[in-house]
Amino acid sequence: MKIHEYQGKEIFRKHGINTPPGFPAFSVDDALNAYDQLDTEIVVVKAQIHAGGRGKGGGVKLAHSREEVEILANEMLGMTLVTHQTGPAGKEVQRLLIESGADISQEFYAAITLDRAREMDVFMVSTEGGVEIEKVAAETPEKIVKVWIDPLLGIKSYHARKLANGLNLTETAFKEAASIFMKMYACYQTTDASLIEINPLILTGDGHILALDSKINFETVMPFFVIKILQKCGI
Ligand code: ADP
Ligand code: MG
Repeated sequence: MKIHEYQGKEIFRKHGINTPPGFPAFSVDDALNAYDQLDTEIVVVKAQIHAGGRGKGGGVKLAHSREEVEILANEMLGMTLVTHQTGPAGKEVQRLLIESGADISQEFYAAITLDRAREMDVFMVSTEGGVEIEKVAAETPEKIVKVWIDPLLGIKSYHARKLANGLNLTETAFKEAASIFMKMYACYQTTDASLIEINPLILTGDGHILALDSKINFETVMPFFVIKILQKCGI
């Protein structure tokens, strides 16, 4: 099963993974309240559907004012969003995420899943974020750095450093990325997720690392404590 981006980000925050501040919105009023609470110049209105490719499909839009948030929320709530991942029928948008606009300097890719053949978890990162990872894998596979982690031993700091190295980061950003990778793995293990993907993970203009998107999949039934976390968040 899949959860929405805003739900994934709640889980990320609980694991200490930095994300832009944001609030879910089920109505135009919610969206306006979210805008008021965020109190930032630029916000992003993001359609919450169980499919990626929203950016290209028109499901991620910048708003520069309260009025723009109102227009976009009116437009997007109830619309059928078609992306390359939804199929031609598209998906109806019933929820939005209103979040602070981030100052993006670079977009990276980071994901963890199970490598069944090796019976190990595989942690992948790439400097080619914000695009389809399948495309990167097909065209420039050397741009994906992978480390395999024995689930019984867990992630070690040298794994995290190797991954952060793969993103050519320096100083603060390197440390932040390595720390986020440790937290991502902890999150993957404690939630028993089958996939955790952050695309894009970004380097901000002022040199920090932030998760701008979240994808968390569960193999079968959602573990009870995850349901409890989601309930606590009012989801
Ligand atoms: P999807 O993967 O469904 O296309 P994303 O959440 O990855 O949706 O958003 C698509 C793109 O929109 C990102 O690659 C990024 O460039 C931009 N974006 C998303 N969230 C923000 C944000 N909070 N601030 C600025 N840009 C954003
Ligand atoms: Mg994305």
